[in-house]
Amino acid sequence: MQPLITGIHHITAIAGNPQSNINFYSGILGLRLVKKTINFDSPDVYHFYFGDELGRPGTVFTTFPFTGARKGTKGSGELTYTAFSISIDSLNYWIERLKKYGVSVSDVLTRFGEKLIRFEDHDGMGIELIANDNDSRTGWTYGQIPAENSIRGFYGATLNLRSKELTEKLLTQHMDYRFIGEENGRFRYGTEGKPGDIVDIVLDKTGNRGMQSAGTVHHIAFRTANEASQLKVQTILMKNGYQVTEVKDRNYFKSIYFREPGGVLFEVATDEPGFAIDEDEAHLGELIKLPDWAEPNRGRIEANLTPVTLNTEAYA
Ligand code: ZN
Repeated sequence: MQPLITGIHHITAIAGNPQSNINFYSGILGLRLVKKTINFDSPDVYHFYFGDELGRPGTVFTTFPFTGARKGTKGSGELTYTAFSISIDSLNYWIERLKKYGVSVSDVLTRFGEKLIRFEDHDGMGIELIANDNDSRTGWTYGQIPAENSIRGFYGATLNLRSKELTEKLLTQHMDYRFIGEENGRFRYGTEGKPGDIVDIVLDKTGNRGMQSAGTVHHIAFRTANEASQLKVQTILMKNGYQVTEVKDRNYFKSIYFREPGGVLFEVATDEPGFAIDEDEAHLGELIKLPDWAEPNRGRIEANLTPVTLNTEAYA
C-alpha cells in the first residue's frame, strides 16, 4: 500500500515583530516569502510562509508574528529545533553569513555522522542547518543566496518530550514513520529517512513544560498527497483514539489537526493545491492575499496589520 504520509509539510512558529521576522527568514536565511496572508483563525495577525521558490511541501516554515509578543520558553511537549538542509560544502558559508548579521552560532556539531550548526532567530526560535549530501532538492535558485548554498528545505524537527513510547507508537503505527536509529539519547524516525522527513525525539531531562509564545513552534504539519489520502489518515487516527479536527480549508492546502501524546500539536496537510493558486509564480508573496471569506473586510484587516517590506537587497 502507498504510504499516506510522506514527510514534513510545513512547520509553524509564533514570532514577535513581523518586520524582524521577514528580515530574518527572507533576508538572512534567504528563504522566499511565498505567501503573505492572515491567520485564518485570528485575522488580525499576519501569516507568513517562507520556502523554496514555489513553497513546495517540505520547505515551508510559516510564522504568526505578533508585535510585542513576549518570548516563550523551550520545554517538554514542544518542537524545540527546526532543522534545515544545506549542501555538504555550505557550512562555512553559513557560519560566515550568520556572523556577518550578528547571529551567534554554535560550534560545529556532529549528529548521525553529519555536521550541523545551531542558532536562534531574534525571538529565540531554535534553528539548525545540517550539511549533507543526501538531498536532491534545489532550494530557491535565484534568491540572494548563491544556488549552491541555498537552504534546500527542511531536514527535520526535534521534539522534546518527557517520554517517547506513545509518540513513537503514533509515528510508526499510524503515520507511516519507521524508527531509524538512536544516538546519545536522540531517537530518529523517518518515512524514507531523508532530509524533509526526519523527526527526532529527545527526552526532556527537566520535565518543565515549555511556554508557547514568540520564538516557539505552534505546530508541525505532515504531508499527505490529497484530500482522499487525508480522509484515510483522519479515519485511522480517530479509530485509534485521537481527537482529530474536521478538515479545514487553508486555501493552499487542506488541514486536520490533533495533539500527539507528548503534547505537540500535529497537523496533516495536503500537497495540493499549493501557493500558485492565487498569485503568479513570479510574484508570490508580494501582495497581502486573503481567503474569499475575509475579502469583504480587507480594508479593516489591512488597517490592523503593521506594514512590512521585503528588503532583501539589504541582505544580498
Ligand atoms: Zn499548519
